This record gives sequence, C-alpha cells and structure tokens, in this order.
Amino acid sequence: MSNSHDTNHTARPLLGCIADDFTGATDLANMLVREGMRTVQTIGIATVAPTDVDAIVVALKSRTIPVDQAVAESLAALAWLQQQGCRQFFFKYCSTFDSTPQGNIGQVTDALLNALGADFTIACPVFPETGRTLYRGHLFINNQLLNESGMQNHPLTPMTDANLVRVLQQQTAGKVGLIGYPVVAQGIAAIAADIASLRQQGVRMAIVDALENSDLYAIGAACADLPLVTGGSGIALGLPGNFIRAGLLSVSQNNQASALPTIDGLSAVLAGSGSLATNAQVTHWNITRPSFCIDALAVARGEPVVANALAFAQKHLSLQAPLIYATTSSEQVKQVQAELGVERAGALIEDTLAEIAKGLFALGVRRFVIAGGETSGAVVKALNVTALRIGKQIDPGVPATASIGDVPLALALKSGNFGAVDFFEKALRELGDDRIQSSLGATGQ
Ligand code: ADP
Repeated sequence: MSNSHDTNHTARPLLGCIADDFTGATDLANMLVREGMRTVQTIGIATVAPTDVDAIVVALKSRTIPVDQAVAESLAALAWLQQQGCRQFFFKYCSTFDSTPQGNIGQVTDALLNALGADFTIACPVFPETGRTLYRGHLFINNQLLNESGMQNHPLTPMTDANLVRVLQQQTAGKVGLIGYPVVAQGIAAIAADIASLRQQGVRMAIVDALENSDLYAIGAACADLPLVTGGSGIALGLPGNFIRAGLLSVSQNNQASALPTIDGLSAVLAGSGSLATNAQVTHWNITRPSFCIDALAVARGEPVVANALAFAQKHLSLQAPLIYATTSSEQVKQVQAELGVERAGALIEDTLAEIAKGLFALGVRRFVIAGGETSGAVVKALNVTALRIGKQIDPGVPATASIGDVPLALALKSGNFGAVDFFEKALRELGDDRIQSSLGATGQ
C-alpha cells in the first residue's frame, strides 16, 4: 500500500470509488462487500462523513454527460474521498466500456491521475460472471466481439470497435498500452514487471487482458501500489486482498462486512419498472398478495391516485406489505407514451411513486423494496436518502441496504431486469420483514 497512513492500521476508509452511474455503483459496492469490505454507497457527494466503513462508492450520473461536467464532478468526488481519508482510488465504469470518442472514460481517468500526481493506471472492464472477457486488447461479450454484441446499436454509447486500446486512445492525449494475456497468465510478478516497463516507456493507461476471476485477483494484487485503478466491478475483486495482506483489513471482520443495523417498521413494495423481469415479479406477487395498480392515464386526468394508493396501503400495512405498481406490458406503456409523450409519462409515474413513498413513510413504513432504476432514483430522492450501507446480496447485483441518516430505512433498489420471480418476497425477508415468511408458509409456497 502506498502512503503515510500505513502506521495507523485503524484509519478508515481505505478505498475510495467513483462510479459513473447508480446501478454500477451498487454492483461495485456489492462486490466489495462480498470480498470483505464494509461499504457505503453515497448518492453524489454525501453531506455526512460515513463512519465504520472500509470503502466508499460515490455514485455519479456522469457516463454520458458533457466531458467538462464529468471531469468536474469526478474531481469533486475524488477531493471528498481524499478528505474522508481514503488511500487508494477506483474509477468504475461499465463492463461494456460504455463511452463515445468524446469520452468520458479517458478524460476522467486523465484528470484523476493528474489530481493524484500519478503517472499510470490500468483500464480493465473484465467481468467474467457476466461474460465480459478481454483478449489481446479486444473485449468480448460472451462469444461475440463488443461491436457485434448489440452494443454497436446502443442509443447513447454505441460501441463500434472492440479494440479497447484504440477506443481509449481516442479519449486521451496520454499514451495507451496493453498488458496482454501471455503476461497476465504468468501471474502477479509478471504483471507488476510489465507495469514497470510500460511506465518507463511513457504509457499512461494500460488496457489489461483477463479471462477469469483468477486473472482479476492477480491483476488486483499487482496494482496494490497504484494510487488509481480503473475498470468494471470485476477488477475490484482483487483490491480488498491487498488491504488484508497489508494488515489493514482483518479476515474476521471480513465475514461481518455485510452486517446491517436492524430497522423496525412497516414495509411496502413499489414498482415503476416496465422490464420483463419486473412484470414477472408483479404477476407472481399478485397471485396471493395485496397490490394496487397505478393507471398513468388516471394520474394524467388528475384523479386522486396517490390518496387512493395510500388508503389501500393503510388497510394492509399492519398485516403485510402491499405492492403499489405502475408496471405493465411494453405495449401498454407504448400506448400511454403515445397519449402523454414519453417524458411526461415517465415523469408522472416517477412523481406519483415518489409522493406515495413519502406518504408511506408518514404511515410508518421503514422498509422499502423498489423496482426500476429511474424509479429508485426518484423515490430515494423523495425520502432524502443520500447514503446507503450495503448488506447481503438478495439476487445477483442487488444487495439489501440501509440508509444512513436520522431515520434509517431498509431499502432494496432493483434496476429493471434484475432479480428472480420471487424477488419481492426474498427482498422483504432480507430487509427484516419476517411476516412474509409466515405468510409464505401459510400459502404453502
Ligand atoms: P427500468 O429499470 O426497468 O428501466 P425505470 O424505473 O428506470 O425502470 O424506468 C421505467 C420508466 O417507465 C420510468 O420512467 C417510469 O416512470 C415509466 N413507467 C412505468 N410504468 C409506466 C406506465 N404504466 N406507463 C408509462 N410509463 C411507465
């Protein structure tokens, strides 16, 4: 580990992360917890300093905003993380390297290196669990090259070149190099030697090949002394081990990393996502449990939808969690969008669910399961949540969380396509609602 804090083994936090979107931040935080670091995710820069934490992940929304803005927000996040005492930094972007020739991965990395007075970092989006591997500088999504994977048609960040050395070189004036698989396969010492040699040649950023998690652990170990590491959440697998080897993170503490405070109160589920997975989860819930459907057109007509939903919730809350949902088939969403306009339809539903969340809070709800990326953002904002402690994984990519603040909330925030069909029930149980267990037993499921 690099710096003068080394004599103080209790100083926290250790790792400061900047993520370019919200669900990516959660994914990374989930990974760090699994590897033994107590982790807090903040929504932008938090107003309170998180305590008893090994890693902080600042979630920005900087993936596709103008370069200057992305650089400014990332530098502000870095400065705040430095103030918190972090000793190593990680810039997290998507495992499909989502960016355009204009940025923002290269420019943000450059700015972070400058701010840290550092001359070199790696760039490794590899995430084998989700089929992202890199060989000879080329990114594969399962069996296809990135530019043949569907990502070439992405509406905001079309990826038309799988050669990431070339892609990154377009985004930075610094020299981009490659640490190829023949080196990575030889392990930690070979990777470290290649890093030293690339630095001597004036390379500022190196794309790193990797095929399996074992490669990511080796790369992580070889990066122990780099002030800045960049990549997808996969590469973060190898970073906690460095702190353990340096005596800064204990293995016993490791098992406790996902512990969350107990949060009492009523519970509810809110769904504003139109994805297939959420549709299946709503259908599954509706078989035996109470639910209230929000009609976007009724909201648009000015009917008292919020009051009706809250009256419905109040009838059920003391017995079991109700579901309040706008989720419907993509055909119906399209119809509503044709009538109201895409943006207006989205905003109406998001605002309605946010108002309902506030009303539920007033009724004593402290455990919320929320489906939908944008929906989660709107609800979390309405509930004034600015920081989340990350707990155990409920389903891949979705951990239980607890908000940090005056009135802590237990939250499960799920982006659209995540989670098994019984996700809502599993999430409620993980958030501490044990009534859902007895009701499962009663219905014989
Ligand atoms: P996902 O993570 O599945 O993309 P989001 O919450 O990010 O879910 O986005 C879903 C968008 O669809 C939101 O803007 C939401 O307000 C909108 N929406 C949800 N239900 C409906 C509906 N019934 N009619 C129109 N728009 C809807």
